[in-house]
Formats: sequence, structure tokens, C-alpha cells
Amino acid sequence: MRKFLLAAATAALLATPATQAQDGPEWALVVHGGAGVIERGAMTPETEAAYRASMQAALDRGEAVLSAGGRALDAIEAVIQEMEDDPLYNAGRGAVFTAAGTNELDASIMDGATLNAGAVAGVTQVRHPITLARAVMEESRHVMLQGEGAETFASEQELEMVPGSYFFTERRWAALERSLGRLGLEIPPRPEGAPDPEPVDHGMLDRDAREHRFGTVGVVALDSDGNIAAGTSTGGTTAKRWGRVGDSPIIGAGTYANNESCGVSATGTGEYFIRLTIASRICALVEFEGLSLQEASDQVIIEELTELGGDGGIVALAPDGQIAWSFNTPGMYRAKANSEGLNVVGIYGDED
Ligand code: ASP
Repeated sequence: MRKFLLAAATAALLATPATQAQDGPEWALVVHGGAGVIERGAMTPETEAAYRASMQAALDRGEAVLSAGGRALDAIEAVIQEMEDDPLYNAGRGAVFTAAGTNELDASIMDGATLNAGAVAGVTQVRHPITLARAVMEESRHVMLQGEGAETFASEQELEMVPGSYFFTERRWAALERSLGRLGLEIPPRPEGAPDPEPVDHGMLDRDAREHRFGTVGVVALDSDGNIAAGTSTGGTTAKRWGRVGDSPIIGAGTYANNESCGVSATGTGEYFIRLTIASRICALVEFEGLSLQEASDQVIIEELTELGGDGGIVALAPDGQIAWSFNTPGMYRAKANSEGLNVVGIYGDED
């Protein structure tokens, strides 16, 4: 009898990897590019096509890393770097302006295998804040650095530094002027080195204002070793003041990853996401309450966030390859892919 039990246990052990491989995709990836009042007909066909192409490019970039057996962390960094370079998003180049006319960038990354994490807040000269967040995680004894100190660390790590004007876009500057006008605050001089003023598309500005688009970027990835990682990068909110920091660089609020439960990246009104510790809360509901990833995401976003008065959304991924997204805004730029051929890009609320 004992012999039989041992044999059965050995067989079960041997069967585990194969069963797991059959159960879920080898790798999976989910990306967001911000949430907001993004409605059909409110965007020009050209702008909509540009966002869709960019989200598809983000998926392709992540797939290239993951399908070659690369690490989830490498996929996160590669995809977010590309999005930080794309002026469509409020991250890296294209970031929104503070009331003082500067760009203060926040980012974070987390490794679900080790629970190591890195974050930066209020950096102004680092081309890829996500890479700096990763350097904080891997090359320092700390989890979070901010402002000048973070920048000194970036130089010591020989990361690419750029002048403040690198982040300048006319669209975000015009949005700042509008916001400051509404708040009755003085408009600062154009940043040193910014290009000469160009005519702006007032239709787009009207849409930006009305649509209240956030534009933060975030990625969650599962690699073929079964590890989950998550990352988020943002310029924060237009006309922010006094060194305001949102949820994006706060581990547990804007970003979280844990191989035992899930990975999450968020976008929206950061103050509410901090108060609800949105990202770690979703994973805790999965781990301790046994909710599915989609149920946990909807409970936190559709019910709790809405009840508190916040808006925005999340993308999430579980170790078995389940993917979820949830948002209480009319739309969210989002995309997902996996090793089984899934490849979806969405913008409006009524898409899959
Ligand atoms: N959550 C970001 C913040 O509050 C903004 C965004 O998602 O666009 O800084």
C-alpha cells in the first residue's frame, strides 16, 4: 500500500509541469495607455488609427521579448521605454506639464518572483524613467528615490539624460495653458529650449479637455518561467503643484506584482488609487478571497473606486495566464496578447 502511495505521489509530481503547461499560455502580456472619457466619434480617424498602431507596436515589442524566452521584467522595460518615447502618451516624451511649466516624471516596476521593487518620483531629465526605476530595484538598497537624488543616481548609473525641453509637446503645453487659465493661475514662460510656438489643433485640445484622458502607460507580463512583473510610467496630472506625486510610483497603489496572486498596473485619478491601494488590493482579493482576476478587478474598480469618487482603470494578469482589465471611464487604451495567438487592441468601452 505504502509503495503504491509513493508511486502515485511520484507520478503526480512528474505530471505537474506538463499539466501546468497545458493549463495556461507559456507567456502573456497586457498593456494600457491611459483611461478617460474616450468615446466613439470624439476622436479623428487619424488619431484613433495612431493610438491603435501604437498599442499594437507595444504588444509586438513585448511579444518579441517573451516569445524568445525573455524575462517578464525585460518585456516590461522594453515596452514602456517605447511608450515613453511616443508623444501620444503622458509618459516620457509627451508628459503633461506641472503648473510651473516643468515635466516631473514618475515610474515604478515590480518583480513578482522576489517582490523586489523600484520606483522614482519627480524626475525631470531622465529619458526613460522606467529604466531608472529598474536600476533603483537592482542597483540600490532602496525601493524609491525622488527628485534630485534620483537624478544623481541616474547619472551614476550612466542612464540616458536629456534636457527638460526633450519632453516638450505643443499639445501638452496648450493643455497646461488652458488648465492654468481655468484655475486662475499665472502661465509660466515656455521652457528653455522648447521649439517656437506652433499652431495647435484646437479640436484636439477641446477633445483632450472634454475627454479627460489620462495617458499613463503600464504593462504586466508573464514569462515562460512563470514569473510575473508589472510596471507603470507617467507624467502625472496637468498643472500639478507642490511636488504632487500620484499612484504610479507607489508600490501597491499604481503597480504591484506577486507570483502567488497577480500583477496589476493602474491609470486614473492617482489620489483615489493611493487611498484604496488598488493594485495590491486586487491581488489580495485573488489570493485570500479566491475571487477570479476579473471579479477582483471589477470589485475594486467598478464598485469601490466608483463609490469613493475616483475614475480610471487597471490591467492585470495572473500566473495561470488569466488576463483582466477593468475601468469605470468610457474608454481605456488597452491591449493583450499571449503565446496561444491572442492579440487584441481596444479603446472604447464596448470592445472586448
Ligand atoms: N495615475 C496617474 C497619476 O495620478 C495619472 C494617470 O493615470 O494618467 O499621476
